[in-house]
Amino acid sequence: MKRFYGKIPGLFLILFIFSSCKNNSNQESKIVQEKKQTKETQFALVLHGGAGSIKKEYFNAAQEKTYRDKLEEALNAGYIILEKGGSSLEAVQKTINTLEDSPLFNAGKGAVLNSLGKVEMDASIMDGKTLNCGSVAGVSHIKNPINAARVVMDSTRHVFLAGEGAEIFVNQKGVVLEDEDYFIIPKRVEQLKRIQRKGKKVGYLSPIDKMSDQKYGTVGCVALDKNGNIAAGTSTGGLMNKKFGRIGDSPIIGAGTYADNNTCGVSCTGTGEYFIRTLAAHSVSDLLRYKNSDLNIALKDVLDRIQKLGGDGGMISLDKNGNIAWHFNTDGMFRAYKKSTGEKKVELYKTN
Ligand code: ASP
Repeated sequence: MKRFYGKIPGLFLILFIFSSCKNNSNQESKIVQEKKQTKETQFALVLHGGAGSIKKEYFNAAQEKTYRDKLEEALNAGYIILEKGGSSLEAVQKTINTLEDSPLFNAGKGAVLNSLGKVEMDASIMDGKTLNCGSVAGVSHIKNPINAARVVMDSTRHVFLAGEGAEIFVNQKGVVLEDEDYFIIPKRVEQLKRIQRKGKKVGYLSPIDKMSDQKYGTVGCVALDKNGNIAAGTSTGGLMNKKFGRIGDSPIIGAGTYADNNTCGVSCTGTGEYFIRTLAAHSVSDLLRYKNSDLNIALKDVLDRIQKLGGDGGMISLDKNGNIAWHFNTDGMFRAYKKSTGEKKVELYKTN
């Protein structure tokens, strides 16, 4: 008996070594799996060009092609940068520049008009590696507001500059300004008149409007570069017929834009007030951080909350492993992604 008891510590030792080997091998398989995932998706980029009443019947073949081609051009503009080893910040900026320069979207040239018929644009960008970020709001002459947001991030102690002060400062740093005429396109003037005639408060995404009356078009992008850094950015003219001075979610870090290398990057589009009230982009990141949520589930969770409050729109997101997710509660969302694995998608309408 005594001899048997004497053997117990030895038995425990063997069991301990066995179980710790087992734990190690579990851990190893997790690491291998993670490495495999990084190897699978070295870099990736996802973009949106706004959510709204985007239905196939509102587009003829030529219009659909115009949108698809521009989304693809923007996708490639950022993708090439990532492919060459450039940073996710640079890729996000270039992708958004392409969309801002196109009158098809509600950002930069072709931005929607406020109730006075003026352009007031908002933008933000965030670096998921450092959590540095920059925003501009209520700017009327900056050709590419996302570039201004980047300058605020890189060249000031601040996060957020607004109005004339923002314009003067970023112009001193080389950001291009344009006259108001550059931004205002006839289609937007007609849309504003139509909305004001109908007595609508703001022109956002009303499904009863025809294609030409849709106010979607905010643009956003999230990218993961070869160094594992995530960046996100959003740029918009806001809502058609908004009150002058109104600021939406797009320039508000945590609401319209968020990026953290440890979780994900997010860019939003939709009725901005609801995305501010739910801190939409940051909430997605928190669901990953604290609940280890699946990215798709996190986006759906946040958008469901927004919908319950009466808001609508969409979100794009990309996590640290290069997984991409998008979600919207509208008829459609201009969206596209491309991964280093060769996977690529350009979509306009609901696909299921
Ligand atoms: N979220 C933007 C805003 O409220 C509008 C949009 O996404 O279309 O300013």
